[in-house]
Amino acid sequence: MIKRIVIVWLVILMAASPLLAQYSGENDIISIQKTPDVIKALRGMNLDILFEKKDEIYIVAGIRDLIKLEKAGIAYSLETYRFAAQAAQSPAAQGGINGDYHSYLELEQDLFLLESSFPELAKVETIGTSHEQRRLYALKISDHVHQEENEAKVILLGCHHAREWISVEVPYLVGKHLLENYASDSEIRSLVNQSEVWIIPLVNPDGLVYSIYYYRYWRKNRRNNGDGTYGVDPNRNYGYKWGCDDIGSSPDSYSSVYRGPAPFSEPETQAVRDFISGKNFQALITYHNYSQVILYPWGYTEDPSPLDELMHDMAEHMAAKMEEVNGTAYEFGRAGDSFYLTNGDTTDWMFGVFGVPSFTIELPPVDIFTGGFYNSEEDIMPIFQENLPAVLYLIDWAIEQHSLTAPSPPHVKPEPLRNIIRGRPIRYHPIESCLCTRLTARIRSSLVLPHWNPLI
Ligand SMILES: [Zn+2]
Repeated sequence: MIKRIVIVWLVILMAASPLLAQYSGENDIISIQKTPDVIKALRGMNLDILFEKKDEIYIVAGIRDLIKLEKAGIAYSLETYRFAAQAAQSPAAQGGINGDYHSYLELEQDLFLLESSFPELAKVETIGTSHEQRRLYALKISDHVHQEENEAKVILLGCHHAREWISVEVPYLVGKHLLENYASDSEIRSLVNQSEVWIIPLVNPDGLVYSIYYYRYWRKNRRNNGDGTYGVDPNRNYGYKWGCDDIGSSPDSYSSVYRGPAPFSEPETQAVRDFISGKNFQALITYHNYSQVILYPWGYTEDPSPLDELMHDMAEHMAAKMEEVNGTAYEFGRAGDSFYLTNGDTTDWMFGVFGVPSFTIELPPVDIFTGGFYNSEEDIMPIFQENLPAVLYLIDWAIEQHSLTAPSPPHVKPEPLRNIIRGRPIRYHPIESCLCTRLTARIRSSLVLPHWNPLI
C-alpha cells in the first residue's frame, strides 16, 4: 500500500512542478528488505544505491525506478522523512546557500587567488568547458611552475558527482596546503620541488551548481539527453570497458548511472582524458563520498588486476597514515570486489590505459546514517587533514617511481609484468623512510610503468 501512495504522491508532485519533471524523478529515498531473490532482481536495475545494511538496502529512487520495482513485485518503504532532519542541519542552513563549501564561482576565485599569491609555485590552466560552458580548471603546483620539467606527476580529481561536495574541498585544500607550507615545511618543499602535482577539484561544475541551487541529491552532469531527461554519470563515461555490461552502468538516460551515448561523449570527461593523455602521470586519486573507503581497479570485474597486490599495499599504507590523524578508519579494497560493480569509471580507465596506480577515495562519513552526502562544515578540515598524509605518500611514491623510469641501458630487457606479480608481497615504506626501499632490483625494473601493456 505504501508504495502506491508514494507513486501517486510523486506523480502529483511531478505534475505540479516542471522542475521536478527535470529531475527524472530522483527525489526519494526508499528501503528494500534484502533477500537473495531481491538482490538478484535488483542487480540489473541500475538503481542509485545509497547504502546497504545487513538486512536492508537504501536507494535514491525516481518514479521510473519505483515503477520498475512495482513491476518486479519488490516491496519498499519510503525513508525520505528519516533524513529530513539531517538535511535541515546541512551546510546550506549555515553560512550561505552552501556554507563553507565552494560554489563554482567561489572555487574559481580561490584557484586564481592561489595562483596570484604563489606565482612561482602555482598555475591555473583551463582544460575544457562543460555542457553549460563553465570552465574546467586544473591547478598545477611545482617549483619552476611555468616550465615543463621531467618530474614525477600526480593528479588529484574531485567532484565527478554533483552532490559529493566534500570531494571538491579535499583536493583544493591539499593544493592550498602545499602552497602555503612550501616555505616553512622542508618535507613539503622537497616533494613539490621533485614533482608536479595537478589538481582538478571540480570535474562536474554544472552538476555542482544544480546540486547547490536546485536539487541537493543531483549526481550526474547536465547534458540534455533530448528525451526529457538530463545528465550523464561522468564516472561511467570513461572509455575503458565502457558499457561492458548493464550491471556497472546503465544505457537508460533517466538512470543515475547513465553512461552516456558513447565513451567519452561528455565534454567534462573529454577534458580529463585529453589532459591526462598529454602527460605522464605516475598516480591518480579521484575523490568521491561517502563510505570512507579506498578503492582500486578493477571496478568492472571482480577479478584482480595485474597490479592488485601493489595497489592493495599502497591503499593499506594510505589508510594507516590516514587513521593516525583523527582515528578515522578507512577500509580499502578492490573496487569490484568490495563495492558494487562499475564500468566506465575514472580509475579503470587510468589504470587500464596507462597502467598506473589509481585510487578512488570515498570520503567520510561511513554511511547515510552518519550524514551521507551531508558532511557538516566543521567536518571539512578534519577530513582534509586526515587525507593529506595519503597524498604526500603518493607524491613521494611517484617521485620514487619516476626515478626508476630513467632510460634503461639498451641491453636491459624489461621483464613482462606478469613475472613480477608472483613476487609478493611488495611493501612500500612510509614517507619518512622513503629513501630506501625494499623493492628488489628485479621488481624495480619490472615496475617501470611505461613498458606495461594494458590488458584488454
Ligand atoms: Zn561519487
